[in-house]
Amino acid sequence: MVATTGEHALVLGGSIGGLLAARVLADRYTTVTIIEKDHLPGTGVPRRGVPHGHHVHAMLPRGLQVIEDLLPGFTARVTAAGGLTGDILANVRWNLNGLALRRKVAGLTALSASRPLLEGTVREQVRALPNVKILEAYDVTGLRTSEGRDRITGAAVARRDGSGASVLAADLVVDATGRGSRTPRWLAELGYESPSADRVGIDLAYSSCLVTAPGELMGDDLVVVTARYPGQLRSSVMQRLEGGRILLTLAGVRGERPPLAYDELPAYARTLATADTYDLLRAAKPLGAPVAFRFPAYVRYRYDQLRRLPAGLLVTGDATCGFNPVYGQGMSVAAMNAAALAEELSHGAEPDPYRYFQAVARALEAPWRMAVGADLALPGVTGPALPDSPLTPDYLRRLQLAATEDAEVAAALVRVTSLVEPPPTLLRPEIVARVERFSPIQAILGG
Ligand SMILES: Cc1cc2nc3c(=O)[nH]c(=O)nc-3n(C[C@H](O)[C@H](O)[C@H](O)COP(=O)(O)OP(=O)(O)OC[C@H]3O[C@@H](n4cnc5c(N)ncnc54)[C@H](O)[C@@H]3O)c2cc1C
Repeated sequence: MVATTGEHALVLGGSIGGLLAARVLADRYTTVTIIEKDHLPGTGVPRRGVPHGHHVHAMLPRGLQVIEDLLPGFTARVTAAGGLTGDILANVRWNLNGLALRRKVAGLTALSASRPLLEGTVREQVRALPNVKILEAYDVTGLRTSEGRDRITGAAVARRDGSGASVLAADLVVDATGRGSRTPRWLAELGYESPSADRVGIDLAYSSCLVTAPGELMGDDLVVVTARYPGQLRSSVMQRLEGGRILLTLAGVRGERPPLAYDELPAYARTLATADTYDLLRAAKPLGAPVAFRFPAYVRYRYDQLRRLPAGLLVTGDATCGFNPVYGQGMSVAAMNAAALAEELSHGAEPDPYRYFQAVARALEAPWRMAVGADLALPGVTGPALPDSPLTPDYLRRLQLAATEDAEVAAALVRVTSLVEPPPTLLRPEIVARVERFSPIQAILGG
């Protein structure tokens, strides 16, 4: 404990965003209470409040770095439970535009494990903090304010079984209830302006299934990504998990619906940009039925643009910005939000919501641009226009093709998509020179 900023902080929602916020708050508040609507299961077990837990969850190196800083030993705990680590380029097969990126050790660690194991491990470590308490099976039903409504003073909660309701007072409330966050509505009800919402209509569908398959099909690869590309709306990710299992997610955008019958998965996989997923499915055995997820749009709430906010209220994780999950950014951005919260608290005073939301906006800048830029390139996808960037779609496409032949370009690319380096590093003169030296015909003919 460094210094006490307040007596009690309340975190609404006990998933990755809420747990990491609680970890940071525990350094500055005497007590931190997490309110979670689910009964929390054991580590590694899926739960109702996180239906996305059945689907591939890639942990990007930046997210892993931040989580490891906040919770030392996290990676070792996950691997002790069967999770796998490797290099983000040497041990991940990246099929972009139907061609595999050239491999080398990029020096960035990727961690592959099921979402329930990742979240459960974060939860175990946060729960072990002496001043953090998790109140399970409680629904947050509203905020409480001071008489003048200029300060949030706590939250109203109700037992999920209907057996009682109460108000929990707090110096600070952090909303981490995910994409269904009601803070925009609650702010309006309290007489504040609601944040505007930047919405990207992607109409994404997932179908995910746990399988086993002969080892040689994945080899030393932790993950095999087969991305969509212009003209192709289908993609897939195969991820090795604890317990020798492989989680396969087939995806489609703009009305493409991967099948939900296991027997129909191979036909869909056969239409993907490479044969990797089809080859695995032909040899695989299912460990359960495929599970669906629909994602019509992702939304960024512009809290950073609000001119009037109450004291004592912050928002984190998917409640500020949900992402198109195919880019694997959400958990990492939640971790970056927690880092922004730690920075805000380091000023030693009560957090300033304006400064905090500006810091969150800075953290969101690169992942948002990358996701929205790629999605808006698809005909029919609707969303907010992005400011012009020197990283044009044409340059990025040429860079991706060059990365299939030039491992230095591939490493530069994955450092950016891993959120470790900012996108402008792709315009460093030595990278531009390598991209310009490359002729796309080389990639097509195989070098
Ligand atoms: C299909 C899918 C695939 C994804 N794949 C990836 C990936 O590959 N990589 C990646 O990094 N990210 C991925 N994400 C995003 C990632 O899951 C989230 O960014 C991450 O979980 C952080 O979210 P969060 O904690 O803010 O919210 P959530 O995970 O949505 O959790 C919200 C929590 O709040 C609780 N809650 C909600 N309402 C209330 C209430 N009223 N009272 C009490 N509790 C409440 C819920 O039970 C839940 O525990 C994916 C998301 C989806 C949907």
